[in-house]
Amino acid sequence: MFFLFFRTVLAASILGVVCCIVYAKPVGGVNLEKLSDWSIVLDASASPAEAYAAEELQRLLAEASYGVYTFLEDYLGIRFLTHDHTFVPKVGGCRVIGPVDRTVRPPLQFRWSYYGVNQQKPEFGARLRVNAVSDDPRLGGRTGLGLVTHSFHEQLPAEEYGEDHPEYYALVDGIRKLDGFYDGPQLCLSNPEVLKRVTTAVLEQLAVNPAARNVSVSQTDHDNYCRCEPCAAIDEREGSPMGSILTFVNAVADEVAKARPDVSVGIL
Ligand SMILES: [Zn+2]
Repeated sequence: MFFLFFRTVLAASILGVVCCIVYAKPVGGVNLEKLSDWSIVLDASASPAEAYAAEELQRLLAEASYGVYTFLEDYLGIRFLTHDHTFVPKVGGCRVIGPVDRTVRPPLQFRWSYYGVNQQKPEFGARLRVNAVSDDPRLGGRTGLGLVTHSFHEQLPAEEYGEDHPEYYALVDGIRKLDGFYDGPQLCLSNPEVLKRVTTAVLEQLAVNPAARNVSVSQTDHDNYCRCEPCAAIDEREGSPMGSILTFVNAVADEVAKARPDVSVGIL
């Protein structure tokens, strides 16, 4: 969760709009009278800025840029309509705004509309406070939350294990399926070795991405799920093929919770 602090006082010259400093008093130890044009004050008085770790600095940078865009929209009426068209209303030569003392708590931590232009024009995505498409801290950076998507084909690829271990994969119509749709076969989710290998792969994914705040443990994109006896028994007991999936994913999540209690496990 990040908090966007707006003890904001600014004298800005941006997009042709001139704002003036509207109040000047010490906030968080900062003498606002000494601020130059185009200044944003984030209330981070609990810790000196230089003590922040890189991750924290990136978060603060993101908050600052999102803060600017929020200010421009909410207080100056600017609208970011398309990547090449920003509506800027006339505000006159000098306009008093404020005092502004506002805290914005975004209701969504992961913001991505999956709208193509956000990726193609990440600077436009940043204006919309999309926080999942660019690593550039000047554009707000990327949240540690990722899209939850199909993952079994990466965590236990049939191309790598299928020949020696067909029993890792779904039994359908009496045969172990080693392919399926575009992202490979489903797994035999009651096989303890499958659980061990997928868990290891997931923990390795997290080890190389310590900033990650979630991880996908998701079936592949078709219904050729495993009908072997143990898998079928779980599905029968739970009343749905989701039974074997949830049992499996929860077992992986139990191990993830031990190693990375800050990480959520997502499934499709
Ligand atoms: Zn099975």
